[in-house]
Amino acid sequence: MGETSGTLKVRGAMNRPNVLVVEDDGPIADAVVYALKKDGMDAEPAPTLAHARARLAARDLVVLDLGLPDGSGFSLLGELRLRTDAPRVIVLTSRDEDIDCVAALEAGADDFVTKPFSPRALVARARAVLRRAAPREASASSFRGAPDGGAATTSSGLVVDGERRRVTYAGREAPLTKLEFDLLATLAEAPGRVRTRAQLVARVWGDAYALTERTVDSHVKGLRRKLEEAGAPPTVIETVRGVGFRLVEGA
Ligand code: CA
Repeated sequence: MGETSGTLKVRGAMNRPNVLVVEDDGPIADAVVYALKKDGMDAEPAPTLAHARARLAARDLVVLDLGLPDGSGFSLLGELRLRTDAPRVIVLTSRDEDIDCVAALEAGADDFVTKPFSPRALVARARAVLRRAAPREASASSFRGAPDGGAATTSSGLVVDGERRRVTYAGREAPLTKLEFDLLATLAEAPGRVRTRAQLVARVWGDAYALTERTVDSHVKGLRRKLEEAGAPPTVIETVRGVGFRLVEGA
């Protein structure tokens, strides 16, 4: 979407994404910056929160470590959430810190990568997050039954038609319940993006509902079964262990 803040920022227009790598571990930061640059992006390291805050202007993406010398990456995540021109965020978490992943996604992060990771894997995630930047903005406020008022092909063969509330795979319709459709439509807003169970509950059932994780899981299970019956591969909705679900990109 157009950036019209009156600054000279031309985000994305030069198709050379600008990434800030907020990470105090020097070798990791260097490897990530190197890999991003090698992939054609502009990238710069920031070893502290203070450094990051001073260097945020005109970034498309922030790679954010959560444990920094002058505080938690969560505080920066919270600040970014309040900005209308906030960059995308990929959070770096330590191995098996599922709670951090969940909390980061719910605090507005677009994705997470678990340490240890390969710089190339991070570059791939960065590309995916930047690629789907526009669709999320377009549909952020309009979802309630009709993600963006029209049909959306989410991966090869799978079509989520928000207007008619129909889902087809290679032309075969999957007879979904209202809840199943809303679940799929939420995931289809951003294929590849992980949604936590709490995010799905908030979007599909509403904030007032306190559902158990098992309830969410059983609805996802039903959704998966019906998509499979329509011919979709079982992997089309991926379970991200301990975190949530995502619609596989280009499945
Ligand atoms: Ca750290």
